[in-house]
Amino acid sequence: MSFSSDEIIRWQKTDQRYIWHPFTQMQEWEQTPPVIIVEGEGVWLTDIEGNRYLDGTSSLWVNIHGHGHPKINQALKAQIEKISHSTLLGLANLPSTELAQKLIQIAPISSEPPHRLSKVFYSDNGSTAVEIALKMAFAYWQHRGKRFNKKRKFISFVNAYHGDTIGSVSLGGIDLFHQAYQALLFDTIKVPAPTCYRCPIALEYPSCEMACINTVKNAIKDNQADLAGLVIEPLIQAAAGMLTAPPGYLKKIRALCSQYDILMIADEVATGFGRTGKMFACEHEDVVPDLMALSKGITGGYLPLAATLTTQSIYDAFLGEYAAFKTFFHGHSYTGNPLGCAAAVANLEVFESEYTLEKLQSKIQYVQDTLLNWKDWPHVGDIRQAGLMIAIELVSNKETKTPYPLEKRIGVQVCNTAKTLGLILRPLGNVIVLMPPLSVSKEELSRMLSIAGTSIRQLKT
Ligand SMILES: *Cc1c(COP(=O)(O)O)cnc(C)c1O
Repeated sequence: MSFSSDEIIRWQKTDQRYIWHPFTQMQEWEQTPPVIIVEGEGVWLTDIEGNRYLDGTSSLWVNIHGHGHPKINQALKAQIEKISHSTLLGLANLPSTELAQKLIQIAPISSEPPHRLSKVFYSDNGSTAVEIALKMAFAYWQHRGKRFNKKRKFISFVNAYHGDTIGSVSLGGIDLFHQAYQALLFDTIKVPAPTCYRCPIALEYPSCEMACINTVKNAIKDNQADLAGLVIEPLIQAAAGMLTAPPGYLKKIRALCSQYDILMIADEVATGFGRTGKMFACEHEDVVPDLMALSKGITGGYLPLAATLTTQSIYDAFLGEYAAFKTFFHGHSYTGNPLGCAAAVANLEVFESEYTLEKLQSKIQYVQDTLLNWKDWPHVGDIRQAGLMIAIELVSNKETKTPYPLEKRIGVQVCNTAKTLGLILRPLGNVIVLMPPLSVSKEELSRMLSIAGTSIRQLKT
């Protein structure tokens, strides 16, 4: 594909004239010609001018096996020849059926209750997957009868990000994104997250013995009669700046939810599909949630699709005569879209045929080894990693861990440098995030790390 400089300018101006970009200050966007991506292959992106970049964000945390994977391409072409969309309201279709079976087969299992997940409810993005989990949890207790009717509230974590719809924003705990909408949101109980770098109770792991869990325990205990559930990003709070939880924390949360009879909702939208080194983050701690939200990587990064998985017993609470009105009255136009589901089935098949998870382990180790001495660099406050979710937090003072003021745009500066060197990154404030597709080769990974490192070292503050 080749474009004349006139065509390039025309496309750039057309974007600036008509598109309102997400999470973007448009006044700034209008001032610089945008990079327009026109092609992708493997972990490489090509822009309209013919420049090539490594995709260091997996196209915003969604791509798994690289762009233009022949098997996923082929599955989509084959499905298009049959049918692209048909509804799940009153009708079934093959790809959504095949995918549901596969998702349940690979979902976490455990010897601890609830042991396994059994049912799949589809939607089309991470926010709706979380909303559906919320509505299911809420309605579940209503259907259980009078004794449980007061169980209507949710616990969520400081720094949490569960999406941008009003329900998922109500669970959110990132002030920059969420504070402005406070008046619109329903009430949730916020508990501190286990962020060891800036411990909410100023202790050190592991001598703290995870004392922070006590705040959660007390919040659950004090509100037990009013609580429908607890919502957590397992292992790592992604949008918060890749804040990793200490090992064992998730298991303790599961135990508390079981002990006090509240539903555990795991938001695996970011962590699902191998990103943390196992298919799902919950597997690291032998945890099965009562509801699990999936999206992002589900189609290998091809199409918008999401799924909310739940247990037989939650599903059963919605059963009854029609006139009992226990039906789950929820559904989106594109629920169970056959194209999205066909891509997702192919995505899971590639995990098997290419031994994606097996091959991932040495890449994860390689990143860990490479980053070891970065901690000594100026500005680098903390390095966090869960599988191929990698974060380098920059601070103005390493001793006091003082963050740079957001308006200094430190993260943006680093990512702009990386772009000129051929690597696409997107920061979270002062946190540089690297999240390559799982298919990345060692050579490509090494190049990504090298460019990210150079960009960090070139930072002028
Ligand atoms: C991205 C994300 C969401 C929201 O998903 P969208 O598809 O952007 O609506 C929800 N939860 C987590 C943990 C995410 O990372």
